[in-house]
Amino acid sequence: MPEAMVASSASEATRGATTQQVDVAVVGAGFAGLYLLNRLRKAGFSSVLLEEAGDVGGTWYWNRYPGARCDIQTIDYAYTFDPELERAWQWSEKYATQPEILRYLGFVADRYDLRRDIRFGTKVTATTWDQAAERWWLTTDNGASVSCRYCIMATGCLSAPKPPEIDGVKDFKGEVYFTGRWPHEEIKLAGKRVAVIGTGSSGIQLIPLIAEQAAHLTVFQRTPNFALPAHNGAPPADRIALLEGDRAGYREQARMSLAGVPWPQQMAVSWQLSDAERRERFETAWAAGDLVYILTQLWADQAVDVDGNTLLADLIREKIREIVKDPETAAALTPHDHPFGAKRPCLDTNYYATYNRPNVTLVNLRQEPITGITASGIKTGKRSLDVDVIVFATGFDAMTGAIMAVHPITGRDGKSLSDVWANGPRTYLGLTVAGFPNLFMITGPGSPSVLSNMAVSIEQHVDWVADRLIAMREAGLTTIEATETAQAGWARHMADCSTLTLHRLANTWYTGANVPGKASGVMPYTGGVGPYRTICDEVVSCGMLGFRLTGPNVPEQCNDGEVVRLQPDVRLVLNMLAEMNLPPIESMGAQGARDFVAEFNKSRPAGRPVGEVVDGTLPGADGPLPYRLYRPATPGPHPIVVYFHGGGWVLGDEQSDDPFCRDMCRRTGMSFVSVGYRHAPEHRFPAAAEDGYAATRWIAEHAAEIGGKPGPLMVAGWSAGGNIAAVTCQLARDRGGPAISGQLLVCPVTDCGFDRPSYTDNATGYFLTRSLMYWFWDIYCSPADRTDPRVSPLRGKLENLPPALVATCEFDPLRDEGVAYAEALSAAGAPVEQLKARGHFHSSLTMVDVVITGVAARVQMADALCRFAGLPPERKEGDEGVRPRSDSLAA
Ligand code: FAD
Ligand code: NAP
Repeated sequence: MPEAMVASSASEATRGATTQQVDVAVVGAGFAGLYLLNRLRKAGFSSVLLEEAGDVGGTWYWNRYPGARCDIQTIDYAYTFDPELERAWQWSEKYATQPEILRYLGFVADRYDLRRDIRFGTKVTATTWDQAAERWWLTTDNGASVSCRYCIMATGCLSAPKPPEIDGVKDFKGEVYFTGRWPHEEIKLAGKRVAVIGTGSSGIQLIPLIAEQAAHLTVFQRTPNFALPAHNGAPPADRIALLEGDRAGYREQARMSLAGVPWPQQMAVSWQLSDAERRERFETAWAAGDLVYILTQLWADQAVDVDGNTLLADLIREKIREIVKDPETAAALTPHDHPFGAKRPCLDTNYYATYNRPNVTLVNLRQEPITGITASGIKTGKRSLDVDVIVFATGFDAMTGAIMAVHPITGRDGKSLSDVWANGPRTYLGLTVAGFPNLFMITGPGSPSVLSNMAVSIEQHVDWVADRLIAMREAGLTTIEATETAQAGWARHMADCSTLTLHRLANTWYTGANVPGKASGVMPYTGGVGPYRTICDEVVSCGMLGFRLTGPNVPEQCNDGEVVRLQPDVRLVLNMLAEMNLPPIESMGAQGARDFVAEFNKSRPAGRPVGEVVDGTLPGADGPLPYRLYRPATPGPHPIVVYFHGGGWVLGDEQSDDPFCRDMCRRTGMSFVSVGYRHAPEHRFPAAAEDGYAATRWIAEHAAEIGGKPGPLMVAGWSAGGNIAAVTCQLARDRGGPAISGQLLVCPVTDCGFDRPSYTDNATGYFLTRSLMYWFWDIYCSPADRTDPRVSPLRGKLENLPPALVATCEFDPLRDEGVAYAEALSAAGAPVEQLKARGHFHSSLTMVDVVITGVAARVQMADALCRFAGLPPERKEGDEGVRPRSDSLAA
């Protein structure tokens, strides 16, 4: 039952005579708060919404500056929870203006009769968890305080304007405006000298319109931003047709997409496209005037790879030079300090062209920083400029600002949120914080929020929270709190996601860098809207994983744990494989399995270019074997790595690990010779091992002929290939050469024992299953032969073997035997480096350009090979931030 509306209680007697009692208090009446209120009310919760502003609208109430519009197409940037509402409102433009969006939110408030539960002009100043009563107590700057079971912060990610951080603002005698707090009355700028400080999205929307009115406009730019033409107009017919053709399907696709707008996943990578093809794609995007399109649809590596990104950024830079006539101004407007998309790009209407106007001047603050504001204008390091009006388009204390402005937020055991977040926000799912029961945030830090179409993210959050409150009520539960384990796991997952995109390479409001003294780190969830949604759903389907729930008459519930332990891209790959609903590989027969792998490999990104690829044959132990040589683009001779592919001694060939060989060849500057050794069942044990050894011997003897450096070579292999590489080292030692200077063993098979924990822990669900391994063993090797060191090198003599790097993956049945081999080698005196790839599965490290989070491991492997060859570690351009870090790799 809803609780009494206004009451006083014993524990609250000291808190003033009247305290409004409700089930749920919502703070903020923007997109999020309005939908929340509607859902809560429908679910029968008594609710109040507290809003500092004089009306609904949030962002769209406050940001009334000229030119303010959305930058996600309006047909996507709207509520979708009620098809009737969708039909009842028609947008007039592709990107609606602020007044139109504000009218829409007013229309929504009226349609669902929301205003009667909203207290406008009421700012929440502090809030405290009353542990005994299991209620939050909110104080406000206007009227009664509020006592509620649940408190939901719908306070907005971009609602706390950032102070100007420039001395002397108070001394200025002219007019001062902030874009994020724009006055309601019309501001007349005609004939005035206007200064705009800031060239983010707000500045870029505002500047062209001010330039049209003002006598003179001076723009003070600290950092140039990428801006793209919006080409605004009527909502595009093709998008409307798509939506109206299948409204539910369209909305669902948006919900499962990466950015909350239904564009398909782009598969082509930049180096597969010619210059002409890339330019054509770019010109189409430039003409489309759609931020999400250009951010996601050109080539698959633009957001994750510096090289792929630079190709696109250069094309935009070219456009800026074409539009802006004065070369010095064009250069100043051209961004070079961040990858495209790592900072929020802007949508503009005539922005760059505005600088061709005679009444507009750009001041480059990188060359002449503002030293202060005086009574008459702005002083820089070089000059004083008198102005009548200063507009601060300086942005927001984003994501945490509005929440932290409610101060203090005091949780369980007197914990203050500002202390808990002193080194940056920590949340579980961006929805809750450990130590703060029954407190929720909508689109809080740790959720996709500002990296998405916010309308989609807001609806998802609101639905998730409302559904939980309903479920708790039904189960007799009264408190919910994230556990520390879950929260720490989410932080780790967030960090893993961040290594995947380029956001970490830019200083932006996404990272807190725009606010002096703010803790730095990527605050929004970069893993995408669809994946995030499935994770939230998984939390529920796993029995509220990572939450502690209590109720007066029910036992405490706590299914503690981390919701995502896999690397984010590994999770996507495994989900994709699961969706394919493939029959087990071991049920396909050897030839069927080979055909399947060959077909599967066709869909992966092509490997990157190397200097030369040469196919040939070499003598194996019992006849010729094919090989493929990957030679670097640099002048030779190059050190040689003999490589053995994976495939359980049954599948694959000298080309099947092509992207991996190319990647390692590029990273190390070494020649890789991938050997097509014989396979079972046609050729059972010890054919593969003997071929491996014979091939290595031949390559060593013919190194010069194939352009390699004579002298010791190295061996490497993945999976069964790792087994062959390890065995080759033992045979070379015992049979008088060749000299091997190092062995790179990636997830190697090293032993015929199946009783190590990784065989049980990872028996199913990670593609290489226990039963598939059993099948491989059965096909290749009879039980009687299995302890032979030529197939179980762990059982061999381990003294006097070359230095090794042994890479193992956390979610791999072969993990523990790899670790055992590394430890045994080390105990026998070989220098051994272990690389334990956290969150990875058996195929992770060889899935180049698919499992991007495997890059750090490949960098480490390349460094090891360089060390084996006596060379300094190679550092490839574009690997900034992907050097191995102990926390990202350690299991
Ligand atoms: P808000 O709309 O920010 O609402 C939060 C409300 O909480 C505010 O009204 C505020 O007054 C109130 N509040 C905060 N603290 C308190 C307190 N202590 N007490 C009482 N009330 C409080 N996103 C997109 O996806 N697409 C776009 O095109 C887009 N364009 C944008 C344009 C601008 C100019 C800006 C600034 C942001 C834009 N955004 C856009 C992001 C935008 O913020 C979200 O899309 C969305 O409007 C957020 O809604 P919200 O309800 O979460 O927060
Ligand atoms: P912003 O992107 O943070 O831009 C603020 C600008 O002010 C930056 O150029 C910044 O320079 C500059 N600046 C800040 N402090 C300064 C100082 N002390 N001296 C000189 N320059 C200073 O803020 P915003 O433009 O308000 O946009 C914030 C976000 O809101 C956007 O990224 C977007 O998500 C949303 N938004 C969307 C739209 C839309 O098109 N729909 C419109 C407006 C806002 P530095 O870069 O050097 O810090």
